Amino acid sequence: MLKSLRVGEVVDKRRLIALLGALLISGFLATSLLGYIVARSSMHDAIVATELPLTSDNIYSEIQHDLIRPIFVSSMMANDTFLRDWVLNGERDVDSVTRYLNEIKSRYGAFTAFFISEHTRVYYHADGILKVIQEDEPRDVWYFRVRQMVEPYEINVDPDMAHNDAMTIFINYRVQDYNSNYIGVAGVGLTVSAVQQLINDYQKKYGRIVYFVDHEGKIIFSGNDSGVSEASIQVREGMKDFAAEMLAGKTGDYQYDYKGHTHLANVRYIPDLKWFLVVEKAEDEALAKIRQTLYTNLAISFLVSLLILAAATYTVNSYQRRLELMATTDKLTGLANRQAYDLLMAQAMKDAQRSGETMSLVLFDIDNFKTVNDRYGHLAGDYVISQVGEIAKANLRASDIVCRWGGEEYIVLLNKCNEADALHLAEKMRLAIADASIVYQDKAIKTSASFGLAQYRPGDTHDALLSRADHALYAAKDAGRNQVKVG
Ligand code: GH3
Ligand code: MG
Ligand code: MG
Repeated sequence: MLKSLRVGEVVDKRRLIALLGALLISGFLATSLLGYIVARSSMHDAIVATELPLTSDNIYSEIQHDLIRPIFVSSMMANDTFLRDWVLNGERDVDSVTRYLNEIKSRYGAFTAFFISEHTRVYYHADGILKVIQEDEPRDVWYFRVRQMVEPYEINVDPDMAHNDAMTIFINYRVQDYNSNYIGVAGVGLTVSAVQQLINDYQKKYGRIVYFVDHEGKIIFSGNDSGVSEASIQVREGMKDFAAEMLAGKTGDYQYDYKGHTHLANVRYIPDLKWFLVVEKAEDEALAKIRQTLYTNLAISFLVSLLILAAATYTVNSYQRRLELMATTDKLTGLANRQAYDLLMAQAMKDAQRSGETMSLVLFDIDNFKTVNDRYGHLAGDYVISQVGEIAKANLRASDIVCRWGGEEYIVLLNKCNEADALHLAEKMRLAIADASIVYQDKAIKTSASFGLAQYRPGDTHDALLSRADHALYAAKDAGRNQVKVG
């Protein structure tokens, strides 16, 4: 019965540890994940609300400096009285217009400055006359487009024939005479590489992806290594879903999935250029650090959980051991108690049955113990009970077990011990008890005990064996005490 109780305790203990583990792990997991989610959402907010718009603002102001200025310069050229007078006067002194264009080019740091006359179709630039433009020349298509335009200017990206076909951003500004008649196109050009450099610098400086999209969705410029290789936003993964919406003029924040990564984008329209400026950040990159923190937290939590569980297991085990000891030990004598005896006896009888070896049982009881209590007091009686136990133990073999049966009665289990040997041991104990002077508070207390002995016989039940020993003890008492009888 005690054994099955023990199995139950073990199961309970396992359940307790499992419960504690589950609580710890779920607690740690919850706080770590919550922390992660909060950090992630605040990071997300910071990117969307601050980082990307700020970058966009900065780039916008740089653009204004680098791109809007050429528009302004082109507008000045288109309204320049010198240029218009020179055209109206028959484009006579080519040198003077060349000087003028050269002056514009060097003063404003443009890549090129040009004027195309509607009357003569001559293309003038800083180095003189470049060519005469032709209606059927594919390279000159732009001129005829600008000629028909309602807006005052356009921005066009084309190779520049005057400079070995270097990709150039042209500001093509319509020039009108004083009566608003169209007389040609003036403007300046910037190399694409300058704009490209600007975007690259921005990408590097701020760790963002930067690119420009025209009003049709074409991706005009993107930074190197930005991963933006698509020709237009209509074919860019994730972006195609909101391309139409964006081109229709809805600027602001967008979020989309690109090749398994979440991209946060800030879109701004630059009216002077008729371009959209897109500043993006792959959220996952920014998240990497936060995720690293999460993993570290989880690892620490796991270790702490393990330590707590180990400590809990250790504590529970030691308490259990102490409880077990308390449940099987007699408090007064430190001897095994009756519960322990039941267990040990059952085991001893099983061993005896199985091995065929014998065993013996000795029951003994202190003689006239009431007088000890009466004469010396109850505490002295307690002391005598514990001392008699000690004396018995000291006169037995290590394998023999003395238990307190109750009151001032003891039971001794003698394993592998026949009647003769048991008699010898009982005599030894009797003599030792009778000879001893138990000193309590300077008083020497003399006492004795009577012994009943029984040897296990094959087929014996415990009750039968105990009953024989009990009868023998009675016989010893009857015969005058302080002696051993065999039952
Ligand atoms: P006998 O020789 O016939 O055994 O005489 P006895 O006086 O020992 O008689 P009995 O065994 O009937 O009495 C035992 C007494 O022991 C009665 C009880 O008050 C006392 N006693 C039992 N347990 C304790 C204990 O734990 N401490 C003390 N001090 N006395 C106890
Ligand atoms: Mg007694
Ligand atoms: Mg008694």
